[in-house]
Amino acid sequence: MPPGSGRPRIFRGIGTSAGIAIGRVVLLDRRSVRFRRHHIEAKDVEAEIARLESAITASVAQLEAVRTSFAGSAMDHKAILEAHEMMLRDRSLFTEASRTIRDELVNAEWAVSQVIARIRSLFDSVADPYFRERKGDVEFAGERILRNLVGQMNDIAEVPAHAEGVVLVAHDLSPVDTAVLSQHKVKAFVTEVGGKTSHSSIIARALEIPAVVGAHGIVDAAGSGDQIIIDGLDGQVLLRPTKIQVERSDRRRVIFDRMTLELLEAQALPAQTTDGHSIRVAGNIELPVEVATVISRGGEAIGLYRTEFMFLGRREPPSEEDHYQTYRKVLAEVGDRQVTIRTFDLGGDKIFQGMAPLELEANPALGLRAIRYCLRHPEIFEPQIAGVLRAAMHGDVRVMLPMVAAVEEVEDAREVISQVSARLTRDGVPHKTDVPVGIMIEVPSAVFIADHLAKHVDFFAVGTNDLLQFLLAADRTNERVDYLNHPLHPSVLRTLRTIADAARAAHIHTSVCGEMAGDLENTALLLGLGFDQLSMNATSIPKVKRLVLELAKSECDALLSETLACAKREEVVELVRQFMSSKTLLQPNWDEEDEVARA
Ligand code: PEP
Ligand code: MG
Repeated sequence: MPPGSGRPRIFRGIGTSAGIAIGRVVLLDRRSVRFRRHHIEAKDVEAEIARLESAITASVAQLEAVRTSFAGSAMDHKAILEAHEMMLRDRSLFTEASRTIRDELVNAEWAVSQVIARIRSLFDSVADPYFRERKGDVEFAGERILRNLVGQMNDIAEVPAHAEGVVLVAHDLSPVDTAVLSQHKVKAFVTEVGGKTSHSSIIARALEIPAVVGAHGIVDAAGSGDQIIIDGLDGQVLLRPTKIQVERSDRRRVIFDRMTLELLEAQALPAQTTDGHSIRVAGNIELPVEVATVISRGGEAIGLYRTEFMFLGRREPPSEEDHYQTYRKVLAEVGDRQVTIRTFDLGGDKIFQGMAPLELEANPALGLRAIRYCLRHPEIFEPQIAGVLRAAMHGDVRVMLPMVAAVEEVEDAREVISQVSARLTRDGVPHKTDVPVGIMIEVPSAVFIADHLAKHVDFFAVGTNDLLQFLLAADRTNERVDYLNHPLHPSVLRTLRTIADAARAAHIHTSVCGEMAGDLENTALLLGLGFDQLSMNATSIPKVKRLVLELAKSECDALLSETLACAKREEVVELVRQFMSSKTLLQPNWDEEDEVARA
């Protein structure tokens, strides 16, 4: 079906990154290509052959681009890609498929699939195992041509440009996919699965592009090139919208952008309550390019640097020098602001090509990830630690260990840090020997031994994204239980109080760096709990700062006591709602729609 020819459809999902985008669909579909045989008129034969020709040309160009990106790396990949390229350049495939189109008056997709089937059966009849194996190459080449014909990509690096802007539609996006989005001109994305705190949603917020997850059925309904509107504010997706819907969304977009600009004025404000209590508002980053946004939004520190994203686009783990240079660059950009470098949180849903191969795990979120993985892989962990210690000579650096669940893990990691430092000293490499070492509290077991852990570390940072999923037993990547993953569940408040109390008793710095920190609904309670720092996605920084200026610490303390007595989440939500109703939150003013329309 040609783009735009279906009826308008509305999908409701979970808006996980605010903003409104209007663009054209690019389908990212990793299932095998779907198409039907259909009859074409004799007058359309030449056009169909031209379509085939350009699909083959595009396929060759894509493979060439991938092969060039492998320049200097393992030869076996290059050889395979060259074999596929040769297969595509071979004119006999084109000639045979064109003949099928002409003789049988069928669409190009069908013709290609027929030719591939014929070649496949030829290979099957050959006894030589080498030739039999080449069958896979032919299938690969055929599949690529078919994808180009139907506009169904399966590799994010191949997302084509679109004049009106690309809106990516996919069943799922891995964190790797989403981070690659930053290198492409993608305006927004919508997926069928995912949650508010899944990494793809976090990255969408970091890139400030609208995103909706949990839009079931969108992949089957959407066609590449269809017009689409993503409303990340209310989780609505309009596929093939009517003219009226486009106009209305455009007005909403103008209003939202206006508010965002107004909010930016708050970036330079100090985050201090009306009764003089200060809290540091910091930003989270995945890649060094995000530092500039954090600073421009008023971030006073980098409270969480998710270094595992250094693996993006690499086929080998970063070397000590890679680490050192990357962190130095970040430090040069942040000036005297503090940077908390989290050591690799690999595993779980963050699997990268350059990692040591992982066993397939039934429950990766509970598997060999983060500090567990690093302690098991010193060849990956030690260069990182060395890079951090060396970079610490050039700025205010803290090192943070993810997913700590036991005191022994801190001891083991500290042992690695001392050994690396001793090695650097022996080699005469300048480095800092007393870099503060902290841990993320994101596993319930760590909460209950927080008093013990506090004696071994210099700071705590609460990772509420993981903490909530483990505490509430609700997978953060599963849209079906996203409603359970709520920071105002009374158990969450009690847990946070235990952590904050342990940190206070041990006089160590404590922050919250999960997504909860950037949501205005939670600000007063986090102030009441006494955290020293809130670290969040850059976009949230100005609005949180603005709110802090309006709050009195004493009223936050009172709200906290009241909510801690609640049995149900809804009771906490209601108390917070009443509390917030007296605050002047900067929200989009939808009443301005008429005025925008007139303008
Ligand atoms: C968290 O779990 O809250 C956190 C900040 O880490 P990540 O989102 O990278 O798992
Ligand atoms: Mg985490």
